[in-house]
Amino acid sequence: MNDKKILMVVDIDLTIADNQHRVHLLPNWKAFFAECDKDKPIIGMIQAISFYQNNPLIDMIFISSRSGDEDTLSKTKAWLESVGFDKPLFLRPSFEKTADFKANALESYKNNSHAYVIIIDDEIKVIEKLKHKYQTVLVYSENNYKNTIDEFSLKMNHAIKKLQNNALKP
Ligand SMILES: [Mg+2]
Repeated sequence: MNDKKILMVVDIDLTIADNQHRVHLLPNWKAFFAECDKDKPIIGMIQAISFYQNNPLIDMIFISSRSGDEDTLSKTKAWLESVGFDKPLFLRPSFEKTADFKANALESYKNNSHAYVIIIDDEIKVIEKLKHKYQTVLVYSENNYKNTIDEFSLKMNHAIKKLQNNALKP
């Protein structure tokens, strides 16, 4: 019996949450984050990701560069629950750069049981930093996210198949 798993690392803003309604508040970051509970769910992406969330071969976590204060944390948790996700969540301390923070948070969560890591994120800097070590999917909103969903599903199914094949080996 193989106990290896896939770790899915999912971004929030512009990956599953449409934050365009609060962009006008920038550069007032406090006000910008305070409105995060009103983000519109990106339904196609949420459905594609939800499909894998109860698979016993998969661990799913959310890592976001939203400021890690209490208000943002509780609003983000509630928002994730409202769209059907109850998974570990990591928010960025304000002193850390996004790509570094995501790499570190992922490293600290990952363990020996994770044979594959798949990162899904709309930020090119995050993908650039992590793509040499892990599977990555850059989120494109064009074409109603179809290309992103296709690429993501292909990589997930490939990883699942590889895990299952390895499990069959004596
Ligand atoms: Mg994002």
